Amino acid sequence: MPTSEIIAVGSELLTPLRLDTNSLYITRRLNDIGILVQRKWVVGDEPASLEEALRIAMRRVSTVLITGGLGPTEDDITRKVAAHVLDRQLIYNEEIAQKLRERFARVGRALAENNLRQALVPMGAIILPNSVGTAPGLWLEEGKKKIVLLPGPPREMKRMLDEHVIPRLASATRGEPILRRVIKLAGIPESTADERIAPIYLGYPKIQTTILAAPGQIEVHLTAVKSIHPQAEYDLDRLQDQIEEALGDKVFSTEDKTLEEVVGIFLGMRQGTLAVAESCTGGLIAKRLTDVPGSSQYFNGGVVTYSDQSKIDLLGVDPEQLRQHGAVSAVVAEQMADGVRRRFGSTFGLSATGIAGPSGGSEEKPVGLVFLGWSDSAHCHSERIQFNGDRELVRQFAAQNALNMARRNLV
Ligand code: AMP
Ligand code: MG
Repeated sequence: MPTSEIIAVGSELLTPLRLDTNSLYITRRLNDIGILVQRKWVVGDEPASLEEALRIAMRRVSTVLITGGLGPTEDDITRKVAAHVLDRQLIYNEEIAQKLRERFARVGRALAENNLRQALVPMGAIILPNSVGTAPGLWLEEGKKKIVLLPGPPREMKRMLDEHVIPRLASATRGEPILRRVIKLAGIPESTADERIAPIYLGYPKIQTTILAAPGQIEVHLTAVKSIHPQAEYDLDRLQDQIEEALGDKVFSTEDKTLEEVVGIFLGMRQGTLAVAESCTGGLIAKRLTDVPGSSQYFNGGVVTYSDQSKIDLLGVDPEQLRQHGAVSAVVAEQMADGVRRRFGSTFGLSATGIAGPSGGSEEKPVGLVFLGWSDSAHCHSERIQFNGDRELVRQFAAQNALNMARRNLV
């Protein structure tokens, strides 16, 4: 199968200030046409580094894509290095020069001498027009190897890739996309998930299975390549079914939906509305619910009741119970969920109260202890969960688990 390496050029990409995002976009597009990215490089604006990367990459893969360093200044080295590695002369291209002059004339600016560097192209290169910037891209072939030079600014790179590079690469390869399935899980630790499904996926050696963990969420990624695995679709279906069966209701999406989207879908199906009362999550649950367009259809609103008094005044939590059990307790979580449901006149109420830390913990109620509450017109219940992590992580875990509690109660 066709393989590629991506080289991102730019000294700024080696600082903590800028991240190479171009390669993510390029990888997605390459995968769509069945080209696998085998390695990625990030090199500074330094000819020796780029030369080394390009020579090594060209030995290993059929397509090398370079982004960045095509600008007009002295530190833009990509053109020169590519010409050197391929042993081609740089030739002045009058057509590019003319386009540059026109582009500058349109905005009333004179063309600086160094801008004309962008008109230098290695012999035999195909010029890829840049519809949104000055630097043209270049397509070079050396035997069966393809070397593609793309500008660094993401907007220019994307347009050029989509308009001129992907179509050319697709016609050269067989263009079978890399197939990918994503199974999203909540309410199960990574190790437990893997224990349950490893015996299954190990039976499919041609499918690459990867497990990714985020706070309160696990994703199982299944990848297969049709050109080297003709049964890929069939095997992916079977593997996905078996994994879903093994994980039961821990699976919340196989269609790349977020947990908050899934909660919204279930609320829509039940024609119900939701309100949330938040303490330790400080509005995070409401934020995530309202990230979903159209959530006003089912989300009535929420309150952040951080103080004891606000829990009493706004949600009708019983002061006596609050004093006796504390704000982080099952009773208070349930009364918060019930109170917010009544207050907003909604079908369901959801709540979170906990100790996010770093201070405020005790032996009996350590940092990371969270109670989640759920209420509908017939009953109330709560869950006690102990999380590990710093303040930010505890809040993320709490919000994620609260949304998952909503999902489980709505199914
Ligand atoms: P260049 O083509 O090297 O002059 O890059 C121009 C600008 O594009 C840089 O200052 C960055 O802001 C951006 N850029 C370059 N390379 C990348 C990359 N790999 N990912 C994201 N942005 C980039
Ligand atoms: Mg640069």
